[in-house]
Amino acid sequence: MPTDAEHTIFLKDYAPSPYVIEGVELEVDIVPETSTVRAWLNISPREGTAPGTPLVLNGEELKLGSIALDGAPLVLSAYEATPGSLTVFEPPLKRFVLETSVTIEPEKNTRLMGLYRSSGTWCTQCEPEGFRRITYFLDRPDNLAVYKVKMIADRALAPVLLANGNLIDSGDAGNGRHFATWEDPFPKPSYLFAMVAGDLGSIHDNFTTASGRQVALGIYCEHGKEDQCAYAMDSLKRAMLWDERRFGREYDLDVFNIVAVSDFNFGAMENKGLNIFNDKLVFARPETATDADFGSIERVIAHEYFHNWTGDRITCRDWFQLCLKEGLTVYRDQEFTMDERSRPVKRIEDVRLLRAAQFPEDGGPLAHPARPDHYKEINNFYTTTVYEKGAEIVRMLATLLGEAGFRKAMDLYFERHDGQATTIEAFIKVFEDASGVDLQHFQQWYLQAGTPKVKAEDQYDPATKTYRLKLRQKIDPTPGQPTKQPMVLPVKFGLIGPNGAPAEWSNVSGGDVRDDMIVLDKDAVELVFEGVANRPVPSLFRGFSAPVNLDINLTQDDQLFLARHDSDPFNRWQALQDVSMTLLTNAVRGRMWAEPAIDSLATAIGETIGLESLDNAFKANVLLLPSEADIARTIGENVDPTQIHEVRAAFIRALVGRLEGALRATYDRLASEDAYSPDQRQAGRRSLRNNALGLLVRGSSVGAELAARQYQSAGNMTDRFAALTPSVVMGVPGADALLEDFRVRFTADPLVYDKWLGLNAAPPEDGTIERIRTILADPSFPKNNPNRLRALVGSFAAGNAVQFARQDGTGFRFVAEFVADVDKRNPQVAARVLTAFRTWRNYEPKRRAEAEAALKSLRDSGGLSRNTADILGRTLDG
Ligand SMILES: [Zn+2]
Repeated sequence: MPTDAEHTIFLKDYAPSPYVIEGVELEVDIVPETSTVRAWLNISPREGTAPGTPLVLNGEELKLGSIALDGAPLVLSAYEATPGSLTVFEPPLKRFVLETSVTIEPEKNTRLMGLYRSSGTWCTQCEPEGFRRITYFLDRPDNLAVYKVKMIADRALAPVLLANGNLIDSGDAGNGRHFATWEDPFPKPSYLFAMVAGDLGSIHDNFTTASGRQVALGIYCEHGKEDQCAYAMDSLKRAMLWDERRFGREYDLDVFNIVAVSDFNFGAMENKGLNIFNDKLVFARPETATDADFGSIERVIAHEYFHNWTGDRITCRDWFQLCLKEGLTVYRDQEFTMDERSRPVKRIEDVRLLRAAQFPEDGGPLAHPARPDHYKEINNFYTTTVYEKGAEIVRMLATLLGEAGFRKAMDLYFERHDGQATTIEAFIKVFEDASGVDLQHFQQWYLQAGTPKVKAEDQYDPATKTYRLKLRQKIDPTPGQPTKQPMVLPVKFGLIGPNGAPAEWSNVSGGDVRDDMIVLDKDAVELVFEGVANRPVPSLFRGFSAPVNLDINLTQDDQLFLARHDSDPFNRWQALQDVSMTLLTNAVRGRMWAEPAIDSLATAIGETIGLESLDNAFKANVLLLPSEADIARTIGENVDPTQIHEVRAAFIRALVGRLEGALRATYDRLASEDAYSPDQRQAGRRSLRNNALGLLVRGSSVGAELAARQYQSAGNMTDRFAALTPSVVMGVPGADALLEDFRVRFTADPLVYDKWLGLNAAPPEDGTIERIRTILADPSFPKNNPNRLRALVGSFAAGNAVQFARQDGTGFRFVAEFVADVDKRNPQVAARVLTAFRTWRNYEPKRRAEAEAALKSLRDSGGLSRNTADILGRTLDG
């Protein structure tokens, strides 16, 4: 049995394969139960390959039927075939064609990698290593090949046959069967391969590119759902236009298709010309989808489309470089949403997500660099560090180089690396060459894990009119990285004078200051600003210009001053969050807030939501107070989620006690009879109104009644769900009846059923685990569908800290048992749910012991997949 060490793959061991597959022809005979895949691989030895070097192809769960080389069957002694690999011992040292035929069983494929069947539709997921479950291949991203695929299937079962590229042939295949042949002229790695066969409905549209290419657009879905695809189509067309205008990137094939499937491990997949989507990121209508759902669809449709250039045309040399395509593409989709909607609001939402999901990863046992240097299971590296922190790194590059400099570098990147599988080093080199700036030190962002902590201290001397600002940075050790170098931090900043206007200075020394940006690249700097007329209040990391934790010695008065006067909207929002967080963490530590402190915070919040000059979506974010998870993370040790929950609930009651009139007025003022539209203006209005309602339910006597009325009268899912959620979480009288009404009305729609599942998992009360167990035990519960499992148990483990981290250990044990069970069928879903344990060492001792016991009993149960064993091992060791 292989040891753990043998399973570890290291970046330093990267070597090109001795052979290259340049062209692929597939003939896929799709038949229920057993499908047959014939492959003709055009293979060449790489220059320098020694005679007698074996050709080793990857496989997984494959059964070889026949094998031939240049048309001649291979004798048994010339090759070895196992379900996991195919070795040809002495292939010729010239171009040759290897022909294989394998059988696979898509119906039995519950891992949802390779070719599988979802609600009757055959579809594929090949990233990162799923293609090897379809045929023997060099299943690695640096093997770029052109593909031609002939699919043959029963016409009644699968009238629709789709693959990458352009359709070049189709017709009758006899016996009620038909075929379609697709050809993709762009060389691509195997992880971008896709095919779909099924009985699907569709909607169609078209797009004309800037240079006049006509592109046929199609979205395919389950019959009867066509009317729910319109917003996805609209988002796609806007994304195509935006990428031309902002980055000069045009689409390059005649066809762009999207297919929505109901069983999918990921959100969506950017296969060349044939994106495959989790249906929850395609389907939307006002009655069943919230504004947040519409927003996610817009974002992910754009993200996958943008991959056509950043991912498909330029791909990754190896999986260590995953961040090359993901960090960059998340940055691009963030910018798209900012341009389409509101820049500051999008920034606040992204930072909220980064702190909620990535910071805990970066500060715990699963911390890893954005470009890791080793892994056991690459599936476990589709993380918020690779995606969201990866996007922050690209954003810092854009901040350091400026908009024009960034665009110039991106142009060079597309020009230099089109058609290549490349690396982070090559990406950084492009930015250096385009700008003339040395970025070797900056590159540490890709290599070092951990969130930098920045401590800021300032001092003003009225006698000399001198203002001193001291900045220090530090990164705690992370697994495998005990010591750290300082990072390059772009600190966008401003100094604000007593009248609220920017403070001026005559000279600054002691560090690298460029207009409104300090570049901090050492452990510490002390900046000296001379000629400053009055004591200023500093506004640092404007727009969250670097992903750090900032600790600054500002008083509550200073922070409320920033909340009123900062010209940077992000920091205005941040200042109010900081005031709340200080009061909350002090209270958790036993120092209860003083009433005047709450008074002034409430006054500032009331003023902010009353300002005409601010948009509603921004104000809605002001009403979202720090979450229980935010508080737990800020405290960092001896965490007792029940205590945090109680402190936060009391804090909300105290604030709402002072703000009830303003919240109620906001709620009443923003009522609207307009027909629903998911646009920013309407969505912003609804989010402010609904966040006001949420606070009223949590902190006033009138809230429950208002929510019940809104639930019954709502004309769209956004308003209905926003009324239901706080009612259920708070367990207000009548909440159970509303939840049951919701089930009866909506749960025939699987995507709304997910919302109901999530609500069942949300209440912080003792009966919640039993309630989840009952749902899971129902024989009709679809226990192999990733969306359902994530909605119920994934949301419980990640979002209901009070019950997950119960002091008696019931929550930990329940989730560990669930992981052990699901792991047998779908390791990716199991491993993902298990990551909820990543903060287990931060709990108080009793909970810590219970979490450890649950993890160890999972480990001792044995038989875990590599995915789950890897997460478990790192969680326990880290
Ligand atoms: Zn992506």
